[in-house]
Amino acid sequence: MPTTNNSTSFIGSSPIPICIIDTDSMKLEHANTQFLAVAQVSTKEILGLTLPEILSQDLPSTVAAFFLELKNASQPISMPVQIPDLESRISPFSNYHYFASRFEEASGKLKIAVWLVVKSIAAKEQDTSIASPTSAYEEPGEEIHSAETWTQLEASREWFKNMVRSSPVPMLITKGENMVFNVINDAMLNLIGRDSSVLGKPWFEAIPELVGQPVVDELFYAYRTGITHYVPGVGISLIKNGESTLGYYDLTYTPLKVNGKVIGLMQTATDVTEHVTSKEKLLKAYEQIRLSKEAAELGTFDMDMVTGRMQWDDRCRLLFGISHSNEVDFDRDFLQNLHPDDLERINAVLAYVFDKRASNGIYDVEYRTIGFEDKRLRWIRAKGQVYFDANDKPQRFIGSVLDITEQKEDEQRKNDFIGMASHELKTPLTSINGYLQLLQHHARLQSENRMLSTIDKSLSQVKRMTRMIDGFLNVSRLESGKIAIHKQQFEITGLLKEVCEETLTLTKGYDVKLRLADEVIVYADRNKLNQVLQNLIGNAIKYSDLGSEVNIQYAADQNTITISVIDKGIGIKPEHQQKLFDRYYRVDENDSTIAGFGIGLYLCAEIVTRHQGKIWVESEFGKGSTFSFCIPLNAAS
Ligand code: ADP
Repeated sequence: MPTTNNSTSFIGSSPIPICIIDTDSMKLEHANTQFLAVAQVSTKEILGLTLPEILSQDLPSTVAAFFLELKNASQPISMPVQIPDLESRISPFSNYHYFASRFEEASGKLKIAVWLVVKSIAAKEQDTSIASPTSAYEEPGEEIHSAETWTQLEASREWFKNMVRSSPVPMLITKGENMVFNVINDAMLNLIGRDSSVLGKPWFEAIPELVGQPVVDELFYAYRTGITHYVPGVGISLIKNGESTLGYYDLTYTPLKVNGKVIGLMQTATDVTEHVTSKEKLLKAYEQIRLSKEAAELGTFDMDMVTGRMQWDDRCRLLFGISHSNEVDFDRDFLQNLHPDDLERINAVLAYVFDKRASNGIYDVEYRTIGFEDKRLRWIRAKGQVYFDANDKPQRFIGSVLDITEQKEDEQRKNDFIGMASHELKTPLTSINGYLQLLQHHARLQSENRMLSTIDKSLSQVKRMTRMIDGFLNVSRLESGKIAIHKQQFEITGLLKEVCEETLTLTKGYDVKLRLADEVIVYADRNKLNQVLQNLIGNAIKYSDLGSEVNIQYAADQNTITISVIDKGIGIKPEHQQKLFDRYYRVDENDSTIAGFGIGLYLCAEIVTRHQGKIWVESEFGKGSTFSFCIPLNAAS
C-alpha cells in the first residue's frame, strides 16, 4: 500500500467510510473497511482506480473542478461534494453525503480524503446494505495496531490533527483511562459548546455535566472491553451558553490499541436531535391517530389508482369479513363482498367520485357488505377522498369505513314502528272520512247548512291528518326502499292548477297565484310530483303571515323544467338552508306553535332525486323564500 502507516492507521480506525486519493494520479490508494462495506467491494477491486471508474460514473464537471481546487489549495480544506446523479441512482452510496479534504502526509505528499457521511439515522435503518459500524469495527483490521506506542501516534500529531480537523464529523481523540482530551476538531467543540481550552483536560473536567449521565458508561465500556462501540440516538444534556440543553447524538467509540492494549479512544458524534425529536413527534402523532381510530372503530383504506394496489387495515378487513393479511383486490375483495342490491349503486357512485369535475373526489356513501368468510351482513359508512394529478386523472383514493349496522338496525326498528303506526292510524281515519261524507250527503239533502259547514271543516281536518300520516308512511316506505316511481307523460299546468285549487280549499286567507306559461309535457310520476308541490306550497303558507302572497311559476327549456314556489314569509338563515332537506330537520328558532315533523322537504328531495332532478332554496331571513326544483323532461326511469 503506497500510503504510510500513519494515514492507514488513522483511516483504519476511523468509524467513517473514507478513501484516500493521490492528488497527482487521482487514483485511489487506500480505503478503510467501512468504505469497502458501503461500496460492497474488496480492496483489490478498487485499488488503483480513479473515483469515476469506481463509481462507474462520470463525475459532474463541478465535482471535477472541486477536486482540482482541492489539489491546488494551499491550506487543508473540506467541503461537501454534490454528486446528484450518484445520490439518486447508485444505491449503496445514496444514503451518504460526500466530503473531500486535502491533507499533507507525514512524508509531505498531498492526498485527498473522501468521506462518506450518512445522511440520517432513518436512512441507515432503511438500508440494510449499509454496514453497521459495530460489526465493521469488531474486526478492526491490521492498521489499527500499526502504531506501536502512543508516542508514535504523537509523533504524527500534526498530520493526525490535520485529518481530524478536516473531518466534517465532530471528532475527539482522548488519551488514557481518564480520557484526557488530546485532539479535538472545531465541529466537536461546536457540538459540546466549548473552546480549545478543553485540550489536556480529563473528560470530567472538560465536560463536567456528563458526570452521572448514562453516556459515560458507554465511554468506559469501549475503553475497558476494547470493542468498538456504536450507540445511536443517545440523549445527552450539555451546558451551552450557560443553559442545559438536551440533544441526541449517534456516537462511535473506537479504541486505539497498542499490542492489543487500549491506550486511547477515537470518538465521533453526529447531532441527530432533529431526527430523533421529529421521529418522536411522528410516533406520537401515529399513536394518537391509532388510538383515536381504535376508539372510533374506524377502518382505513388506501388505493393507488395507478397500479390498482389497495391497502386495508385490520378493521377494514374485518368489515368485509376477511381475516387474512394477504394483499386485497378491488374486484375480488371489495366489489364481490358488496351486497348484490348495492353493487350497481356503488359502481355509479365510484364513477362519479373518480370524475374530478363532477365530485371533486369527495366520497361519502353507505352500503352493505356480506362478510367473505363469516357471511355476516354489515352496514358500512365510507368516507374518503380521491386525489388527482394535473390532468385530473385519479392517483390515490384514501378514506375510512365505519360499521353502522347497529345504528341501521335501530333506524329500521323505528321505521318499522312508524310504518306500522301510520298504517294502523289510517284505517280509523278512512272510516271517519267515510262517515263524514255520509253525514255531508244527508246534511246536503236536508239543507242543514250549519251542520254542512261543520262537516266540511271536519273533512278538511281529516284531509290534513291523512296528509301527515301519508308523509310518515312515505318516509317509512322510502327508508325500506319500497317507494317506487311510476312515470307517465302528462301536461304540467294541469297538475299545477289542481294542486293550487286543492290548497285553496284547505287553506283560506292566502293569496296563492299561479303564473301560467306555455304547456309543458313531462315524463314523471304525477302523484309524487303532486306531493312535492303540496309540500312546497303548504310550507310557503305555513311559514308566512296570514294574507301573504304565494307565487308559483315554472319555466322550461328543451331538456328540463324548473318549478318555483315563492313566498314572502319568515325566510331562512343561511346556516339552515343546506340542512332543510335532511330527515327530521326543523329550524328550532322558529315559532314553536308552527306544527311539523321535518319530513316534508326530505320527501321532496328524495322524490326529485329519483327523477334525476335537483331541489334547492334561496332565501333571505325575514323577507321570504323561493324553493325550486328541476327535473329532466324525459328522464329515463
Ligand atoms: P316541517 O315544515 O314539517 O317542519 P319540512 O321538511 O317541510 O318540515 O321543512 C323543514 C323546515 O324547513 C321547517 O321546519 C322550516 O323550519 C323550514 N322551512 C320549510 N319551508 C319553509 C318556508 N317556505 N319558509 C321558511 N322556512 C321553511
